[in-house]
Amino acid sequence: MPLIHWFRPPRYLLTLYLAGAVTGVVCLAWLAGRLLAQEQAVESERARAQLEVAADRAVAVFQRSLNELERQALSEDGPLPPDTVAVIADHVSIRSRPAGRLIFVPVVPPSSEVPPGVFTAGERAEFGKAGLASAIDIYRALTRARSRAVRAGAFVRLGRTLRKAGRHTEALQAYAELARVEDVRIDGRPADLIAREARCSVLDETGQRALLEREANDLRRDLASGHWALTRAAWEFVFSEASTWAGPGATTINGLDAAIALAVATDALWQQWQDRPTAGQAVIRHADRPVLAMWKTAPPQISAVLGGREYLETICRQVSIDANAQVALADRDGQPILGRVSGTQATRATADTGLPWTIAVAASHPNRAVAEALARRRLLLTGLAIVGVLILGSSYFTFRGIQRELAIARLQSEFVSAVSHEFRTPLTSMRQLSHMLLEGRVISNDRRGQYYEVLVRESERLHRLVEKLLSFGRAESGAGRYRFESLDAGDLVRAVTTEFRSYASDWSLEISTPSTPCPVRADREMLSLALWNLLDNAMKYSPESRMIWVDLSIDAKHASIAVRDRGIGIPRQDRQRIFRKFERGAQAAESGVQGTGIGLALVHHVVHAHRGEVRLESEVGRGSTFTMVIPVETTA
Ligand code: ADP
Repeated sequence: MPLIHWFRPPRYLLTLYLAGAVTGVVCLAWLAGRLLAQEQAVESERARAQLEVAADRAVAVFQRSLNELERQALSEDGPLPPDTVAVIADHVSIRSRPAGRLIFVPVVPPSSEVPPGVFTAGERAEFGKAGLASAIDIYRALTRARSRAVRAGAFVRLGRTLRKAGRHTEALQAYAELARVEDVRIDGRPADLIAREARCSVLDETGQRALLEREANDLRRDLASGHWALTRAAWEFVFSEASTWAGPGATTINGLDAAIALAVATDALWQQWQDRPTAGQAVIRHADRPVLAMWKTAPPQISAVLGGREYLETICRQVSIDANAQVALADRDGQPILGRVSGTQATRATADTGLPWTIAVAASHPNRAVAEALARRRLLLTGLAIVGVLILGSSYFTFRGIQRELAIARLQSEFVSAVSHEFRTPLTSMRQLSHMLLEGRVISNDRRGQYYEVLVRESERLHRLVEKLLSFGRAESGAGRYRFESLDAGDLVRAVTTEFRSYASDWSLEISTPSTPCPVRADREMLSLALWNLLDNAMKYSPESRMIWVDLSIDAKHASIAVRDRGIGIPRQDRQRIFRKFERGAQAAESGVQGTGIGLALVHHVVHAHRGEVRLESEVGRGSTFTMVIPVETTA
């Protein structure tokens, strides 16, 4: 169809409607896009605001925790959280709390004083000609001295000399006694540590594995619990020695790494104090362990509190819970200290918070937030899609409806003009003939007789046409009730064809009916009308042949009345629609055969009212067969 047709009345209505529907859908899509964009913007704005709040809360919780730690460190004997240590130092000494948490320290107490020359005689004997036995006697005598420092020194020397003399059991005994001398330091190391170390060494030398393992493990455990005030170098040396002695049987010591990290950080802090005794806070690292250090100066004293990774993890966890967010810490250079966050994050720098680290905060369940946003978006899209589909669907059906109405309007106007034509032809000839007869212009009796016949035929034709229209009107409106009765289809066929013969006298009708009766329940008048219509059509659409065949056949269930012609035939594409009201075949309209398009609709109506069906076989140019199949009346 050319494009211009869509803009002519009444089609422009359709075009207008379609344009409206399409515009509606486009607007809807645009709206959906806008809504989505807006929703996304609101969503990310809300998430950002939430993060900012969470970051502020995190800062507050950290500040509170650190203040609390400082307060606890300052109170002389209050408890401290796990993995923290409070330290008070001056230039020569250091004290820490809780006891034993620092496993080594930057400064150790001085060695105990021994009067000069006490061991000279013994050493002369030990290293001179007098021999070990005399040295042993001298040292043994000194082990009974009043001074603890002298006693301890004597035991050390006695043990050493006995070892040299190969008297290992006695040496072990001497060291065991040395271990019982308290509060004496020899060469910067506690006497009891020297004793236990020496015992292990003797046990190792004499191959006493079981005892060695036990004593070495005890030594390691005491070293790890900060039993002695040792420098880092001393501690590391003895600990590694003890570990070697313990061998594969060395027991694992929980929290050793954390303790080492605290002690190392304290060492580092001490060094810093020596150079620059100011207040401050920092994160000091040892291996992968960060240690928080906060210190204050009150010359000559400096006090500090240190917290290891476990402590930091505990407060981070607390912050995470309180702020309902993931929390990560980084140092001033951006190096991660603790934790990791994923997704969008809010940060708080050291300069703004006064904390020794930068805080990064992210949503605690970023995936859940994303999933929720996605679900909301999906819901919105589904809703809009449904509305879109509804608009399109209803537009389509409305479009189809309007199209059908337009087609019916067209068919109706064609019908009106077709009916007018059908009426005009007989009316014209009737008018002319009756005028001629009235005016006495027809003198010949024969001619007058012929004219009367024509008048009768034409009025018959008009009558039938009117009958057909009325019956169709009744059938359409459902007003015409069928009056079913038992009758013989053979009788009906014979009656109608006889009447039709006299109507179409110059046509040959070949009728075949079975010899047996053919009982059906039918409305005589309506079924006759339907058969008449088929005969009339066979006549109208057979321009060359003058033959019509009418066949009645019967089987157990059905009676079939077939009307066959050798007319123009019906193309395949028309075979269904010609049964609809006002529909005419394209060929019929072209060949100028008059008609109204209601005959077959009426046939269809009547046959369906009889619970039957109409069958059509046709071949263009060769003819058509219309068969009305209706149920036979059974006696049972
Ligand atoms: P009308 O004959 O008034 O046009 P009908 O409803 O009786 O209306 O028939 C509808 C159409 O079916 C006809 O216009 C014609 O095209 C086609 N038709 C009906 N009967 C025949 C036939 N016997 N041979 C060929 N075409 C037929």
